[in-house]
This record gives sequence, structure tokens and C-alpha cells, in this order.
Amino acid sequence: MRIATIEFQGRPRLARLAADGTTVDVFDVDGSRGALALIEAATSGLPMPGVKETLPLTDVRLLAPLPVPRRNLFCVGRNYHAHAKELRDSVFKDNTQTVDAWPIVFTKVPETVVGPGATVRLPGAAISSQIDYEAELTVVIGRGGRNITAANAMQHVYGYTIVNDVTARDVQMRHAQWDLGKSFDTFCPMGPWLVTADEMDGNNTRVRCWVNGELRQDARTTDLIFDIPTLIETCSRGITLLPGDIIATGSPAGVGMGLKPPRWLQHGDVVRIEIDGIGTLENTFLEETRP
Ligand code: MG
Repeated sequence: MRIATIEFQGRPRLARLAADGTTVDVFDVDGSRGALALIEAATSGLPMPGVKETLPLTDVRLLAPLPVPRRNLFCVGRNYHAHAKELRDSVFKDNTQTVDAWPIVFTKVPETVVGPGATVRLPGAAISSQIDYEAELTVVIGRGGRNITAANAMQHVYGYTIVNDVTARDVQMRHAQWDLGKSFDTFCPMGPWLVTADEMDGNNTRVRCWVNGELRQDARTTDLIFDIPTLIETCSRGITLLPGDIIATGSPAGVGMGLKPPRWLQHGDVVRIEIDGIGTLENTFLEETRP
């Protein structure tokens, strides 16, 4: 099932895409929390809400599938072998270690989330001139739990979506913690919808990212250093994961920072991310001070 939050007649609604992708069935529930309503129903053993109406996809605007995450997003840093190598060869030259024993985990605040097609605001050079993209397969937790083992972890995956973990590199590098450089307003495009776990294999799918039509990132999740079960095990150690929690699994090689010389996003740039089994997430980056 592909679950989308849509805007129709000025209001957010929760919907599922029809198999042919041309229409959406709108559920008879409050759409303001997006897919969270369905995830909570499913994990509480409640029945699926009924369908109120069917609309052509062309008549609605897609919002992020989880437009208001219940809390910070868990995000994993440096989690593809090739990406770890590109950073070792460029920014982390002193660090000869390619793979750490434990994953890097940081968070983005929930207010960063915007939908497919939404504008990402470049903050202007006084704040940051090093804005970068990161295409990421993102896990959405279904049944919650604490101290989940890797062996049981996939039973806790409700589904998958795409996130662009937009980053202000200069701000990220300035602080020991990455949260500030990762949490600017609009810095988490998410979508285009959530695909339930029964419909795809997140542990083996292809992640690609284009900037203005130029392919920059292309990898399979089989190249993850810490795979999805390991990430769930790690994030739930001593912390109760909740239904609807979000874990962005890290970005492949080919980010702007890893290029020689680095290439930062500019006013008017379009970043398109495609993950096999999910779809396409595209956003335009605009400087907020420009008209
Ligand atoms: Mg990232």
C-alpha cells in the first residue's frame, strides 16, 4: 500500500494510491498527522478507516507522508562504504578509519519536514553558503519497542519513504553535534508517499539523486555499513521506539561536499531523488532573500 498525505480544498487528507497510480482513495480520518493515524491504528489492532471518496491524483497536492513527525527524526551519518571513503578522501583526511564500530546517529527537528515539490529555502550566505543534498532511504517504525534485536527488527518496520537530509555543511562542521546544521527550516523534504514494508525490500533497493538532471548519487542499500536491522537495534537500545518514528538510513557517495572541488546548491537548483519501489521526490532550492 502506498499511503499519501494530500491537500485537497485547502485541507490535509490521508489517502492511499490506487494500483494504477492515477487516483487516490481518501480515508475518513483527520489527515493532519498524515500516515501516523494509520500506523497507530494498525499497531493498536484497530480496523483500517473507511474510504470516503476517490479523487484523481492530478486534482490534489502531495504533502509529506508524515507532515508533523511526533518527535525528532533519527538520522544516520556516513553509512555507505563508498560515501565513507569519499569523505575520508576529502573532508576527514586525518581520520584513516573508514568504518566505525558504531553508527553515527544525530537528529533533525520535526519542523524541518516539507513535502514533495515544496521549496527548500537557502538561508543566504550570512548564515550558510554550503548547502548540500543527501538522498536517503527512510524507515518508518510500526510497532514500537525497546531493546529490539536485529533478528526481530524487520517486524517493527511499517514502511519506507524518501528523505533529502539537506545539510548546511559549514554549520554542521562548526559544531561537534550536527543537529544545528541539519535542522534549518525546510531542510527535510519527505515523500512522495510511504510504501508499506510488504511491498518492497528496503535492504536491497536502489537510491539515486540528480541535481538539475545530473546524476550525482547511485547506490544500492546493500552497500550500507550498518543495515536496517542493526540501525533499529542500535536506536532502540535503552530508548523506546514509538509507532511512526523515523530513521533516515544515511546517504550514498556523491554528495556535493565529496566532489572535487565541492559543489554547493545554488538558487534555482532542482534536486530529484528516486528510490526503486517508492518513487520520486523532487524539490527546488531558492534563496529566501531573493524575490
Ligand atoms: Mg544524512
